[in-house]
Amino acid sequence: MRVTTAFKRLLRLDDVNVTAVEFGTSTITVAVALRRRRLVCPHCGHKTSARYDTRPCPSSWRHLDHGVWQVQVQATLRRLSCPTHGVVVEGVPFARPGAHLTVDFDDLVAWLATRTDKTSGSPSNPGRFTRFPEPARRAAQSSVRSALRKESASR
Ligand SMILES: [Zn+2]
Repeated sequence: MRVTTAFKRLLRLDDVNVTAVEFGTSTITVAVALRRRRLVCPHCGHKTSARYDTRPCPSSWRHLDHGVWQVQVQATLRRLSCPTHGVVVEGVPFARPGAHLTVDFDDLVAWLATRTDKTSGSPSNPGRFTRFPEPARRAAQSSVRSALRKESASR
């Protein structure tokens, strides 16, 4: 089995192909390419095949760790011109708009935020706990949006 195939199965990211895997000293960088050809606005779901341009540098998201290895997912993304939101970077199926964490990592952090008391961690581990509100907010907004979509679709 090829290493790219193994990481495609391990990461379980939808609608992407793993194109390369690179091992660093403590990080595994997994390069992915979106399978879809059309560009999707991350904010409203507007789809188009017209590309505005391609970002010159790849975007990256932190994914759930594999043992002692930190996992970074990287993708070169295109930009589109959305009639509502202007020129934006295309959305990816595995991360919420504006997030530097994958949905799985976001959800884990949001879940931990609901299970951890407010006082633990912050003095000894300030970096982690100051990031809790943002993933929790994104996860909550995503849940509300999907519930509203289901409700409007059932009418
Ligand atoms: Zn839009």
